[in-house]
Amino acid sequence: MSIAELELLPGIKKNVPLAPYSTFRVGGNAKYFIEPVTREEIAHAFHVIRNTGLHYWILGGGSNILISDKGFDGVIVRPLNVGVQITSTQVIAEAATSLQQVIQKTVQANLSGLEHLMGIPGSLGGAIAGNAGTAKEWISSAVSHVVFAEQTGTIHTVPASECAFGYRTSRFKDTQDEIVLAAQFLLTSESRDKIRERTLRYIGRRTHQPSGSACAGCIFKNPPESPAGKLIEEAGLKGKRIGGAMVSDEHGNFIVNTGSATAEDIIILISYIKQQIRDRHGIQLKEEIKYVGF
Ligand SMILES: Cc1cc2nc3c(=O)[nH]c(=O)nc-3n(C[C@H](O)[C@H](O)[C@H](O)COP(=O)(O)OP(=O)(O)OC[C@H]3O[C@@H](n4cnc5c(N)ncnc54)[C@H](O)[C@@H]3O)c2cc1C
Repeated sequence: MSIAELELLPGIKKNVPLAPYSTFRVGGNAKYFIEPVTREEIAHAFHVIRNTGLHYWILGGGSNILISDKGFDGVIVRPLNVGVQITSTQVIAEAATSLQQVIQKTVQANLSGLEHLMGIPGSLGGAIAGNAGTAKEWISSAVSHVVFAEQTGTIHTVPASECAFGYRTSRFKDTQDEIVLAAQFLLTSESRDKIRERTLRYIGRRTHQPSGSACAGCIFKNPPESPAGKLIEEAGLKGKRIGGAMVSDEHGNFIVNTGSATAEDIIILISYIKQQIRDRHGIQLKEEIKYVGF
């Protein structure tokens, strides 16, 4: 297969600005950009893209990535399959559905198990890939199966036990070899009042995070020694600025784009924080966010 075949994929676009697709609101253009809609279209596009030999990137809601100012010299594939199907306590959600919409539908059906994900932006596919959640509760605890396409375009369904879920990771996060198409959850029937109480509790916890600012969630994974945000705050780095990038005043593990940040500003600030924490505590912080096009 060739570039010619890639360019024949329905809806493929060239030279697409990526900043609007990232919650950091930074990043240059993608050489190619495609948004397939059905599971089959996604699997087929993935197969064609793989066989061109070009670099490619699976994009969800763009809420846990930093895109280079130079953009991405390859193909961005952004699934658009949405939908939530509920049968008794079993829920099947398509990858491009927003995580918040999945929660809303399950809460409306008096199903408990996803409330701890309240307020986390992005798509269901991104949440599965990164095993989104709080420090202690992760989406994986409610997942029964994941549907994905591999590079040949073949679609598989595997149980959660085969997804290598861990703290902010899964078999889908680091390789880009498999694209999540959907996930199946097994939830618990619960009274409306109990679900409401849990929902409000989790929303309350989010008041410590910056709201309304362009950011990408936690920059670093929490090291075993201490939460990354605490280490950064204790190092006096809250409010530290490089260009238009600033360590959030509200949460040390968030960097916000104050309006004029470039990806370069953000990456220099990330390096600075890592160096400070290494010098101070001998701890090597590791990124939770993924870099695109660097
Ligand atoms: C204000 C704010 C608060 C946040 N709070 C939290 C929090 O409390 N807990 C938490 O865990 N996260 C949090 N995040 C980070 C982020 O929202 C989550 O990690 C989210 O699940 C990422 O989903 P996404 O669709 O935006 O993925 P993206 O950012 O687009 O991608 C993230 C990774 O997932 C991969 N990916 C995306 N879709 C697919 C797919 N269909 N198949 C395979 N791989 C895929 C990408 O290739 C990339 O490696 C927060 C972010 C913000 C901006």
